[in-house]
Amino acid sequence: MQKLEGERKEKIRKELEKIVGPDFVSDDPEITYLYHWDFVTAEEPGHCDFVVMPGSTEEIQALMKLANREKIPVVPWVSGINIGGTAIPKEGGIVVDLRRMNRILEVNEDDMYAIIEAGVTWGDLKGYLEKHHPNLRAGITWSPAGTGVIPCYICYGFTDLGFIAGTGADFINGLEVVLPTGEVVRVGSCMCTNYWYGRAPLPDLAGLFIGWDGTTGIVTKAGIKLWPNLPTEYFIVMTNTFEQGVNIFKKLARARIGIVDMCFVNYTWMMSLLGYHESEELPLDPEEAGYQDFYGLVAIMAYTEKEMEAKREALEKIVSEGGGIVADANMALNFFPEEARIQGYTLMNPPIHFYNCWNFSYGGGGEWIGSYLSSRDVVKYYKIALSVAKKYGKRAQMYGRVMGGGHYWIGRVNINFNKDDPEDFERARKCLMEIDEKVRELPSVIRYKAPKWAKERNFREADQNALELIKKIKKLLDPNGIMNPGHGL
Ligand SMILES: Cc1cc2nc3c(=O)[nH]c(=O)nc-3n(C[C@H](O)[C@H](O)[C@H](O)COP(=O)(O)OP(=O)(O)OC[C@H]3O[C@@H](n4cnc5c(N)ncnc54)[C@H](O)[C@@H]3O)c2cc1C
Repeated sequence: MQKLEGERKEKIRKELEKIVGPDFVSDDPEITYLYHWDFVTAEEPGHCDFVVMPGSTEEIQALMKLANREKIPVVPWVSGINIGGTAIPKEGGIVVDLRRMNRILEVNEDDMYAIIEAGVTWGDLKGYLEKHHPNLRAGITWSPAGTGVIPCYICYGFTDLGFIAGTGADFINGLEVVLPTGEVVRVGSCMCTNYWYGRAPLPDLAGLFIGWDGTTGIVTKAGIKLWPNLPTEYFIVMTNTFEQGVNIFKKLARARIGIVDMCFVNYTWMMSLLGYHESEELPLDPEEAGYQDFYGLVAIMAYTEKEMEAKREALEKIVSEGGGIVADANMALNFFPEEARIQGYTLMNPPIHFYNCWNFSYGGGGEWIGSYLSSRDVVKYYKIALSVAKKYGKRAQMYGRVMGGGHYWIGRVNINFNKDDPEDFERARKCLMEIDEKVRELPSVIRYKAPKWAKERNFREADQNALELIKKIKKLLDPNGIMNPGHGL
């Protein structure tokens, strides 16, 4: 695309100021710099010419028409820390910071959904529901409170209700979207009625905007599923080996005992949650060093205490038959050395803002190889990641989740690094790329929120006709290729 400079740039600035108001357009290097990074990752920074903050769908519509006419890249953005770097502006243009559009427009208690604007964050949503609709709750991530709900849901993120409901994308009932050519479309039941209760029974056009990482349009509103806020208990499941833990989780997934979430971390990740800093004392291969290496969190909902008691009993039976133990928070803490309990974090207080993961080595850097995969491949995935990380002298922090009633899983390995140390940065990057390459030898692995290089690997052996169809659809929706260029196929 043509570079924005000189008179042309001034002309565009004036038009942008007319659309969103002069206070909400900036090309100050001090401001635009903040939008060039996915600041925790090892991805290269990008560059944008303008940052704008629109206040309405109409403003986004006018902005898109301008960008399409002038063939200027447009990058939708809420907090830019999706960890795949998919909001890094790769080819200049306009970053559209959506955070002024942060209203929760409606909560329908009868059908249990909310209609939210594009810039609503987890903090906004959780706070609003707790205050105004305490009987309902949303599926919430463990990402920082200031990150966006819609970006997570449309990029197949996952939440603390992933076991009952699947990925964030499964929580979407309908969308309002501004297309790159400026038209506004509504998809889902809101296309035909004022209700946003679901996507049935219409052609499911929501898929045109889910899993595309902001390359097909700007979502301005979403109808999202809410759930009854029933009493919930959290149990920690501990086993000696990772494999034992995974096998127990497979059994639990089939027990139908009111589980709403099941996730797990390895020893190294658990230590970072506890505020323990990376040091020579932490083993590169915890199991080999004789440490328990599986810490599961199981969240169970029940209507009455008696029902909970029965569910607890069933859980304890399955876990003990598999050779594990069920612990409460204090018991779990006692398994860790005294010095590892610095900040008293436990897995029992979701959502936790996992900043400790990044401070693990006092360097603030972290990036993960996050994948959807079959339960058959989870243990192998961990072992591969562990052995590659070990080669680079890195500690593999493993995290996983059982999704959608146990039909598929998430496996994710995080590698920390010191952002101030170019050598460590480079080592982490190489290590991540090698883990990504090696875990792909497993037949079921597909990366989500993938940076460009990993996205290309996703499609290396894909069905060619499906790939062509994706390209045709993209061309149809975005004929001038203005949407988030560099992050598509
Ligand atoms: C410590 C930490 C923990 C995390 N834990 C989780 C977790 O548990 N689960 C999880 O799913 N994620 C997690 N994340 C990732 C991420 O922060 C969340 O998914 C978050 O909600 C995404 O928000 P964001 O504002 O950073 O998205 P952004 O980076 O701003 O956007 C993500 C993508 O969506 C596009 N986009 C944004 N808004 C729109 C729009 N309106 N229309 C079209 N495209 C759009 C962007 O261009 C980009 O490609 C975590 C991140 C961190 C740093």
